[in-house]
Amino acid sequence: MDLGLKGRWALVCAASKGLGRGCAEALVGEGVNVVITARGAETLEQTAAALRALNPSVSVIAVAGDIASEAGRAAALAARPQVDILINNAGGPPPGDFRDWGREQWIAALDANMLAPIELIKATVDGMAQRGFGRIVNITSGAVKAPIDVLGLSNGARSGLTGFVAGLARQPRLAGRNVTLNNLLPGAFDTERLQKNFATGAAKQGVPAAELAAKRRAAIPAQRFGTAAEFGAVCAMLCAEQSGYLTGQNILLDGGAYPGTF
Ligand code: NAP
Repeated sequence: MDLGLKGRWALVCAASKGLGRGCAEALVGEGVNVVITARGAETLEQTAAALRALNPSVSVIAVAGDIASEAGRAAALAARPQVDILINNAGGPPPGDFRDWGREQWIAALDANMLAPIELIKATVDGMAQRGFGRIVNITSGAVKAPIDVLGLSNGARSGLTGFVAGLARQPRLAGRNVTLNNLLPGAFDTERLQKNFATGAAKQGVPAAELAAKRRAAIPAQRFGTAAEFGAVCAMLCAEQSGYLTGQNILLDGGAYPGTF
């Protein structure tokens, strides 16, 4: 199916690796021009080159910077102020015990995983409504539906974003102008972040990382981790011309790991 996205512009945040890159690849494959961001300029440039090779007919602009900072967001928006698609993403906060976290850790988590997406939505959403087309996808986490105790910073910050988006998506001046806002909730995806989590857990528990990975895999009904490519494909579907009636939703992509009926 043609997703009707050829020639559109997207800002894909935190996209040099992992899920963000998967989203950028899927959109570029659909003929979407992209601005991609990440802090590390070298890997970002390599990803930009790979995206250009994937589809030489699209424009790919790489903007290095921290999307959690005002300067990073300003640089990303300056590259292409009027985007049709916004994919919000950033690194997740570290695990730990809430007894060890102070204001500084909470503000960092809120900056990256709640306030940065809200600021980017604020900067782009009314232009989308004026033009009569907009797709915003926030990469959050399965932990919004089924919290993970050691990821308290993530549970809290992402739930704040989720509540905000739920209200905004239902504004008639957005939903009524073909602007949709949805959240994509990853379960376990085979990215650098997941591998690092296993390495950290392995070092703490004194067991091989492969053993932890195998245990986690076995607990997923699909019996495997997701891939960035399949995450990106679902993201592109949410952005499709045909998805204009799908808004304010939290789409869980977890191989069946969430045990609830709803
Ligand atoms: P990843 O493989 O570590 O990739 C993260 C990407 O984001 C990199 O390109 C990184 O590049 C960039 N990035 C990180 N912080 C940034 C910032 N402040 N500003 C700009 N770019 C930034 O991670 P991932 O697995 O794709 O995860 C993406 C998001 O999904 C995270 O929030 C993660 O917590 C969440 N998530 C992932 C999983 C999973 O299983 N993978 C599950 C649930 C939730 P630089 O480091 O160079 O900036």
